[in-house]
Amino acid sequence: MTINYQQILDEIRREVSPFSDEGKVADFIPELALVNPAKFGIHLITTEGDRFSTGDEDEKFSIQSISKVLSLSLAIKFSGEKIWERIDVEPSGNAFNSLIQLEYEHGKPRNPFINAGALVVADMLISNLAEPKEDFLEFVRNLADCPEIDFNYKVAQSEKSHGFRNAALANLLKSFGNLENDVEQVLDFYFHQCSIEMTCRELAYSFLFFANEGKILHKDEQILTQSQIKRLNALMLTCGFYDESGEFAYEVGLPGKSGIGGGIVAVHPKTYSVATWSPRLNEKGNSVLGMRSLELLTTKTGMSVF
Ligand code: GLU
Repeated sequence: MTINYQQILDEIRREVSPFSDEGKVADFIPELALVNPAKFGIHLITTEGDRFSTGDEDEKFSIQSISKVLSLSLAIKFSGEKIWERIDVEPSGNAFNSLIQLEYEHGKPRNPFINAGALVVADMLISNLAEPKEDFLEFVRNLADCPEIDFNYKVAQSEKSHGFRNAALANLLKSFGNLENDVEQVLDFYFHQCSIEMTCRELAYSFLFFANEGKILHKDEQILTQSQIKRLNALMLTCGFYDESGEFAYEVGLPGKSGIGGGIVAVHPKTYSVATWSPRLNEKGNSVLGMRSLELLTTKTGMSVF
């Protein structure tokens, strides 16, 4: 049976619109609070290269925590399984920027998608890359097949001037000996990686290799092995949605990652990658319309990983 994805996306757009006033735009990074809360877009690309979309799918937004999956992918490419000596692979059950757990677990972050874990990954990249920020950007540009992708320096600066919790986490990691580089340098890299801007279209394509056995579609470039892809998809499923990963697995049933810019990207292994953007977030920090849309997508297609 062929699935009419375009019709499904059009239906989803209509069906989620009554909920478009629910939730709140993130405001703890002042520059992010300036976004228009009414934005809504979806882009889906299959492993055959077919594309379907609706709404503001071609408008750039701040990918924020979604970047943590891309930085982790690059770190795994360099260091393989060794990275798990410094970061665990368990859901945290705590807020993404919690300090308490890191203290009582002696500086080993629960997983690479909470901020503490992403800071350790940033540290690994700084140790391995000649020009860390530029080289990471090039990696993302290649995955997205879009040379224009860039940091938003205003957002990075805005986060730097308000990133007190991240600074506390980085200092705590350093005190436990789990950062090799200077705290300032690690934070600077981290704030820039989070400030990357992409459209749903670019984001869906840049995550397609997770659905395409580790290869970039049409480039035949192997980014990660099939076994590494299996592990990363498992991590996205169990840890990709802050303290709501269980709920997302229950409602949607796909591996994915969200960010406080209102983006969500999810993959159906071997079938498609899909990105949604809507800036209003629920209490756990996930996009209200994004979650609803993806729940409808897996329900209407009758396909999830379960
Ligand atoms: N840059 C944000 C922070 O570190 C990322 C938040 C997010 O998207 O989860 O607080």
